[in-house]
Amino acid sequence: MDISARPQDPAIEEMARSIYAMFPRCMRCGEPIARYEDADVRILSNRVVHRGACASAEDAGAPPGP
Ligand SMILES: [Zn+2]
Repeated sequence: MDISARPQDPAIEEMARSIYAMFPRCMRCGEPIARYEDADVRILSNRVVHRGACASAEDAGAPPGP
């Protein structure tokens, strides 16, 4: 199972939500992520970023950090 994909499995969803609960701040731009729905949780790397631009920057392999 590829758990790097968007959460589909309830257990993966649960894990993603707990990671978001621990890290409610974007690790890309440093801004708080208001809602879980706005977060892109990378379970394998334990990173949480905004959906959209910040997630694209992650995928592009840009250096991490705000
Ligand atoms: Zn961000």
